[in-house]
Amino acid sequence: MRFDIITIFPKIFDSYFNESIIKRAQAKKLVKIKTHNLRDYTNDKHKTVDAKPYGGGPGMVMMVEPIYKAVKALIKSEARNPKSETNSKSKFSKSKTKTILFSAKGKKFDQKMAKRFSKLDQLIMICGRYEGVDERVAKYIADEEVSIGDYVLTGGEIPAMIVVDTVSRFIPGVLGKHESLEEIKGSYPVYTRPELFNKKWQVPKVLLSGDHKKIEEWRKRA
Ligand code: SAM
Repeated sequence: MRFDIITIFPKIFDSYFNESIIKRAQAKKLVKIKTHNLRDYTNDKHKTVDAKPYGGGPGMVMMVEPIYKAVKALIKSEARNPKSETNSKSKFSKSKTKTILFSAKGKKFDQKMAKRFSKLDQLIMICGRYEGVDERVAKYIADEEVSIGDYVLTGGEIPAMIVVDTVSRFIPGVLGKHESLEEIKGSYPVYTRPELFNKKWQVPKVLLSGDHKKIEEWRKRA
């Protein structure tokens, strides 16, 4: 699966994606993560990506044109599955490609959405900044608007990291045999050495019993 991230701050991602499970997933070619500087899709010498809002108001708004150009170029790129049929519901993308726009007013990202995205060949993510993004991006370019929670961040870059991380866990082979793809419901409290810490902080006795049936029952109840 390929993740394409459109951002004005591509360097933000370097550190996170070059560590641990996500680094290994890229090395094993299970996922491909590409960041794209939105300024590369501008025409003027200042590489302008934002402008004042029509109707007035504070701050700047990200313009539709560079985003349109970037998404169009990325959908055309090698990640497109030539066999996929055009999905009539999709505004702009092929059926195995989805374009999402990060927005605080979008649909809440959750484990179910992550699983759905993991079936795609390509996920294009648009990271907003400033006061937000020209509404025509949500209307005509993005297939979905996605929020990671009921709070306002300064940009869509952290949401993009969260989406790449969560979706990747669903891709077969990404998690090693020591990591588990547990669903939220199946999560249970975990403990490790030492058995006793700070004189009173004790690991539940059942986990030390060696009785796997009892441990399983305890985990279901916990
Ligand atoms: N009302 C704006 C909006 O569209 O969310 C607030 C702009 S916010 C300062 C700048 C950018 O951060 C947004 O365009 C969006 O891409 C991203 N962002 C902020 N909060 C977010 C959230 N909860 N989930 C996803 N993206 C968010």
